[in-house]
Order: sequence, then structure tokens, then C-alpha cells
Amino acid sequence: MRRRPKRGRTVLLCPQCGSPRIALVAGSIMGQVYHCQKCDYVGSLVFETDVPEAEGSGPAP
Ligand SMILES: [Zn+2]
Repeated sequence: MRRRPKRGRTVLLCPQCGSPRIALVAGSIMGQVYHCQKCDYVGSLVFETDVPEAEGSGPAP
């Protein structure tokens, strides 16, 4: 198994309502298409934000 070298993780946010409930629908020649489960936004443009590993992962070294 491989671990990502990058720390923390990335979450996707809906550009319309800001919800993190974004699901990848399909990858096509147009690119990836995402669907927001909250406002039903569908599109290839989503916000990406880094979330530091803080919640419930124990004390930092
Ligand atoms: Zn949305």
C-alpha cells in the first residue's frame, strides 16, 4: 500500500452553495463532471480546499 506524500486531505466544495457533498459523476473528454447532492449543481468546476489533519487524528508530533 502507498501513502500519499501530501499531508492532510483535499475536499471538494460546490461553487454554487459551498457544500462539501460533491460526488464525481463521470470522467469524459470534457473532463471530470461533479454533482452536488445539496443543490444539484452539475459541472466540471468545483472548489478544492485542503483540510489539515486535525479532527480525531490524535495529537500532532
Ligand atoms: Zn451545491
